[in-house]
Amino acid sequence: MTQIKGTRREDQFRYSTPGTRHPARRAVFLDRDGVINRPVVVDSKPYPPRSSAEFDLLPGVPEACSRLRAAGFLLVVVTNQPDVGRGTLDRATVELIHAEMCRRLPIDLVKVCYHAGEKYGEPCGCRKPRPGMLLEAARELEIDLASSFMVGDRWRDVDCGKRAGCQTIFIDWNYDEPLREAPDLRAGSLLDAARLLTMPTSAR
Ligand SMILES: [Mg+2]
Ligand SMILES: [Zn+2]
Repeated sequence: MTQIKGTRREDQFRYSTPGTRHPARRAVFLDRDGVINRPVVVDSKPYPPRSSAEFDLLPGVPEACSRLRAAGFLLVVVTNQPDVGRGTLDRATVELIHAEMCRRLPIDLVKVCYHAGEKYGEPCGCRKPRPGMLLEAARELEIDLASSFMVGDRWRDVDCGKRAGCQTIFIDWNYDEPLREAPDLRAGSLLDAARLLTMPTSAR
């Protein structure tokens, strides 16, 4: 599991007196492809962009991120990039894409699983639906998982969020791929999800 730091803004974290524990933070864990950027869809299946030129932010994503940040959520991107482990995508390309993503969005942390997956003889604890990336981010940033959300567009994201003890939000692109677990909420886009999460609880 590797990570790069995003534009983390310490001033927004409101640390209490040194030595005392500050209240647990809430986070929104964001899948990348199909949530932040447009997936490259071939035969009704989503694929990651193969270059930063193909990295295309979905409409409303910057606004969604600002809104969630302003409401006090940390933003943690958690993405499986197994093509790197399988040798068909360059890790440097993925890192370039993430640098660009963090330049454009107020992301606190990016966690990437580059492992190829069990079928390819490379099992790991971080490939979604395993919850490793969320658990590690939670330890590093002192995130309260039970009051956090996982937003994704595939069954792996929903199941991963559940295993980590988060609430889950599913963005449905009508892929030819059924869900396994039922998500807690559904949204048409990340901006929709952000509206849901930042409206008063009574109105939800
Ligand atoms: Mg996705
Ligand atoms: Zn992994």
